Amino acid sequence: MIETEVKVVKNYIGNQWVDSKGTAKEVVPNPATGETLAYVPLSTADDVDKAVKAAYDAFPKWAETPVPVRTRPLFKYLQLLESEKEELAQIITLENGKTLTDARGEVQRGIEVVELATSTPSMMMDDALPNIATGIDGSIWRYPLGVVGGITPFNFPMMVPLWMFPLAIACGNTFVLKTSERTPLLAEKLVDLFYEAGFPKGVLNLVHGGKDVVNRMLEHPDIEAISFVGSEPVARHVYQTGTAHGKRVQALAGAKNHSVVMPDCHLEKTVQGIIGSAFGSSGERCMATSVVAVIDDIADEFIETFVAETKKLNVGDGRYEANFVGPLIRDSHKQRVVSYIEKGIEEGAELLVDGREKGEIASKEAGGYYVGATIFDHVNPNMRIWQDEIFAPVLSIVRVKNLDEAIALTNKSKFANGAVIYTSNGKHAQTFRDKIDAGMVGINVNVPAPMAFFAFAGNKASFYGDLGTNGKDGVQFFTRKKVVTERWF
Ligand code: NAD
Repeated sequence: MIETEVKVVKNYIGNQWVDSKGTAKEVVPNPATGETLAYVPLSTADDVDKAVKAAYDAFPKWAETPVPVRTRPLFKYLQLLESEKEELAQIITLENGKTLTDARGEVQRGIEVVELATSTPSMMMDDALPNIATGIDGSIWRYPLGVVGGITPFNFPMMVPLWMFPLAIACGNTFVLKTSERTPLLAEKLVDLFYEAGFPKGVLNLVHGGKDVVNRMLEHPDIEAISFVGSEPVARHVYQTGTAHGKRVQALAGAKNHSVVMPDCHLEKTVQGIIGSAFGSSGERCMATSVVAVIDDIADEFIETFVAETKKLNVGDGRYEANFVGPLIRDSHKQRVVSYIEKGIEEGAELLVDGREKGEIASKEAGGYYVGATIFDHVNPNMRIWQDEIFAPVLSIVRVKNLDEAIALTNKSKFANGAVIYTSNGKHAQTFRDKIDAGMVGINVNVPAPMAFFAFAGNKASFYGDLGTNGKDGVQFFTRKKVVTERWF
């Protein structure tokens, strides 16, 4: 690609694609090859203000539009997304690096959230009770908030934005979206198809950029609520700053997800399941397993098969089907991951599979940022590789005596996003479900990301806020309620 062909992505404000007012921009490389795909502008406070104004101006008319009319274009949006599925997946692979198989899965999960949003008329209904006292009725009425801001991470350029704006807009809000500056390309398609579906001018706006855009959104007096998904320190900052400015905030954060392997598990399915969960999408999933707590009785047998299967995984460009582990998002992230592998060795963990070698070969061949699947054994909770979210195909194994110890270990983590148990014993599953501290629990399910009609959120440092995304929580987050007590003479 010659330099002049590389475009600077545009913001979408009001009803048109516009250049950012800012001069600063960042390169957007293809993580699989290092080739420059585009530049992303680091938009300014002025760009944010314009987008918020467009959304603010569009709000009154949109909020008054009857909810079935607001929802109707979503059916067309669904059709358009369905018909462009493959292209959407290819853009995800291009800018994020995940394999096409993983990208297709993401497209499907994104579409499912739009399906959910088509049921907004039913979901916005609330409680009502006649005759709560003589001649008096009580009822709850839900109304949109106003302008809502959405801030999203690099690892799900389609699914996470779709967690936010279709439901928020169907609830009667207008929206300003800021996608990750590391994966800004897919948003163009999401916005174009959205307007092609027939939504009116101004209801969805897009501003590209980094922390300056976020910070302006957090302080902007005309933004009522912020939906955020990203890393823990930023989620905490977004929650604290947004709420200090009087906004409603949901901030979904990082994770360190544990899988517990019981002696009574189905060994083959468990091994394959953990491989998919730990190394799929290069471990760059908030629901990826990054620690396995294996019970001593089955530890050696499990580890032997797990290591053998892991060694078979190919590392390389996600566009090619033979590759299971694609690139990491940036070279800087790769360097950080390599330093964690070095740290794990220094801390005394036993490196059973070293992904650096396959990673270096793939990096040299393709030009991107690769680290292969990596396994440490004999990890303990004092080690940084157990404590920190590495966000890569690096898995730690901790050997434990029994289920109680596995649960106690998992509950020590500062994070509490997802947790999984592999067992054929109902009592073990029940105990795990009741005692584990995690927002999303899997029982023989590798990545227990809830379907869109359930809420999605973790606990502890994995989530700042009260209401998760999606499901009934999503509708509650995007609406405010009035409780009406009425008497007629
Ligand atoms: P990130 O925190 O670096 O970025 C997320 C967003 O915040 C981006 O839009 C970015 O521009 C913005 N941002 C970054 N630094 C900022 C700062 N200092 N001030 C203000 N805004 C800032 O996250 P990421 O690396 O893009 O995504 C990966 C992280 O997201 C992982 O920690 C992962 O676990 C988490 N994640 C969580 C969930 C969940 O449901 N809990 C889902 C997906 C990803």
